[in-house]
Amino acid sequence: MTGEFDLVVRGGDIIDGTGRPRFAADVGIQEGRVAALTVPGAITGRATLDARGLVVAPGFVDIHSHADWLLPLEDHGEILAPMLRQGVTSLVVGNCGHSLAPVTEDSTRLADASSEILRDRAFPYTWRSTAEMLDAVEARGVAFNVGFLAGHGTIRQSVMGNAPRAPSQGELDALRRATRDALREGAFGLSAGLAYKPGVFAKSDELAALCGVVADEGAIFTVHGRAYVWISPFYKPMLLGKPHNVRSVDELVTAAKQGGARLQLSHQIFIGRRTWRTYPTVLRRIEEAVAAGVDVAFDAFPYTVGNTTINAILPEWVLDHFEERIRDPKVLARLRREFTMFRLALGLDWSDITVTWGGGQASLEPLEGLHIAAIAKKLGVSPFDAYVHVSRESSGSARVLIGTYSGDDTNEEPLRAVLSHRLCAFETDTILTRRGRFHNPASFGTFPRVLGRYSRDLGLFSLEEAVRRMTSFPAERVGLPGVGRLAPGYAADLVLFDPRLVGEGGPNAPPVGINKVLLGGHVVVDRGVTHLDRSRGRVLRRR
Ligand SMILES: [Zn+2]
Repeated sequence: MTGEFDLVVRGGDIIDGTGRPRFAADVGIQEGRVAALTVPGAITGRATLDARGLVVAPGFVDIHSHADWLLPLEDHGEILAPMLRQGVTSLVVGNCGHSLAPVTEDSTRLADASSEILRDRAFPYTWRSTAEMLDAVEARGVAFNVGFLAGHGTIRQSVMGNAPRAPSQGELDALRRATRDALREGAFGLSAGLAYKPGVFAKSDELAALCGVVADEGAIFTVHGRAYVWISPFYKPMLLGKPHNVRSVDELVTAAKQGGARLQLSHQIFIGRRTWRTYPTVLRRIEEAVAAGVDVAFDAFPYTVGNTTINAILPEWVLDHFEERIRDPKVLARLRREFTMFRLALGLDWSDITVTWGGGQASLEPLEGLHIAAIAKKLGVSPFDAYVHVSRESSGSARVLIGTYSGDDTNEEPLRAVLSHRLCAFETDTILTRRGRFHNPASFGTFPRVLGRYSRDLGLFSLEEAVRRMTSFPAERVGLPGVGRLAPGYAADLVLFDPRLVGEGGPNAPPVGINKVLLGGHVVVDRGVTHLDRSRGRVLRRR
């Protein structure tokens, strides 16, 4: 083959994202796309990149990102640069029930409250519909390729506020219509956050109805389930029957089966030491569902800590009218009893919960970086009172890192089983803003950690399989067009990494072994140095 390309990546080992074994080839890039994959030395370009000794892979797809509330900011590329540095070129946003659209005049206030933890700073909602939001974000330019999900919670807020009840028939029709509109306007699917307000108020029939709409449109339904613990306040009676995280998976699989939708179980984690033993059952349930014809898969991050809000582990009856109830002595007495039982039943210590950001409250700033047991000591109160203090003072918006997610420092068995599963897509699930001094390690090292620690060092799966589950697998599940593979016609989003070195770089530090990251044929990261350009990314739309 002859002819001159814009750029040739020369001499690398291609891992093309499909899972097939690596092979030596040169990559010809023309107008932002991969135009040729040829035997080494067969093509020439106006520019070349030397990839000898490196793996050349498609840019990584983060199927579960919470970057929505950053994307409208003109400096989102700077804030999200740690994601680019680890090789992420495409983000799927709108997860866990919350998205930038659709909103109404009234619901923007609720959307802001729900997204407080995800925001860097406030901005005006200059849109209402999903189409208007996509246009607005596109007009300002994005530093990544971005695919949007429509949040069930956001849609529900636009129809019925945060009403703690089932929708009326009229409201259910409106929810259906709003979901269909969002999907037809370019959203790739519907996400639900069933442990968060207002998703927590949605019952199975509402979910099955909306699953039906998602299936009709050929889109994906992604869900943050009701319970990732074996016992939770969400299911009654609490002590009878199946572990609650197994019930949660069963409920979602049933809804997906009834509605016929493609289902993605978001961040499949097992929280609390006593929940870990349920992992074989959950994985078996997923396999049984697949065998029964349900199109279900899941995603996970390679850490035993995860970020969430301090209120994520509070029961529903406290979240409803939270501001009053968290100050009511009778409520607190009941919560203290329930919480103690819950914590012991779970196998979760106060030292497993670390406050990373105090919600912007100056009084909480000195507590950032400390776990609840240490905060209790510092304040001279009980750990429960310390927890309530942080929750109340931050109006529930404090950010925490919770440990015991599928393992801890001494035992990673559940985590490794999850990560090893062929249906597991890798994700960051991280909340990355400039707020606070303490951050989730997933923001910096997720993908390099999978490649280095879990694939190369521990040998849980091949490098080709690792790359597949961070590229073509998530891209094709969500339906992102033109990304996730290194093949002619696909976007020239590439990661050049050294397979001997790739890995994490330490707390809050860039990863090692990522040599270059290309977005649309342009080098956006060169040995850790970012060349940000808001015109390089594309707003992806479902066709
Ligand atoms: Zn979630």
